[in-house]
Amino acid sequence: MARILVIEDEPEMQRGLRDNLEFEGFEVVVIGDGKKGLQMIIDKKFDLILLDVMLPGMSGFDICKKARGEGISTPIIMLTAKGEEVDKVLGLEFGADDYITKPFSLRELLARVKAVLRRSPHGAKISTGKVSLGLLEIDFDNYTATKKNKSVSMSSKEFDILRYLWQHQKDVISRDDLLTRVWGYDESISSRTVDNFIVKLRKQIETDPSKPKHILTIHSVGYKLIP
Ligand code: CA
Repeated sequence: MARILVIEDEPEMQRGLRDNLEFEGFEVVVIGDGKKGLQMIIDKKFDLILLDVMLPGMSGFDICKKARGEGISTPIIMLTAKGEEVDKVLGLEFGADDYITKPFSLRELLARVKAVLRRSPHGAKISTGKVSLGLLEIDFDNYTATKKNKSVSMSSKEFDILRYLWQHQKDVISRDDLLTRVWGYDESISSRTVDNFIVKLRKQIETDPSKPKHILTIHSVGYKLIP
């Protein structure tokens, strides 16, 4: 059974999330304090994190960034308010896997929780094993990567994108392909979000990210991975 950590400080939200997730058969732990929440993420006992943005102690954005900085790749879904910069949430700065804007329907939340869990290492995945790409040594099965023997912090979404490109290496992959295959269900994710992820991946992989040799841009079509 998947274990979900909910970091959220509003009592009504806490109750609603706990009741509904437990009803769906998940094991749920709820915490209202940001700093304590971060420590629980770092202790790695959860399969998925639902993370509010405005929290006492530490903001959800900082928690997400710090967790990724510690090399934690547990999937994180941010509970954002309208107007928060979603591209930043998912992209370069914070490394969340998905977001949902408050107020949301429980049906929508459950769909996203299940989709993210399906894509995580606990769900069914094609094994890709260990590969070497540019400067990175990547272990797709364990969601870990190293560069010059030092561990590199990457989100599970970054691994998923890289895995998809790796499995279709030398093919031209359109942004739409990546959106459909990696995000799956969410039409509100823009192709600019995909581009942001590619920029981030290049920084890890390429010797000179401004002249990529492994993840090439195919003008007006998409991307191609060259091992
Ligand atoms: Ca809050």
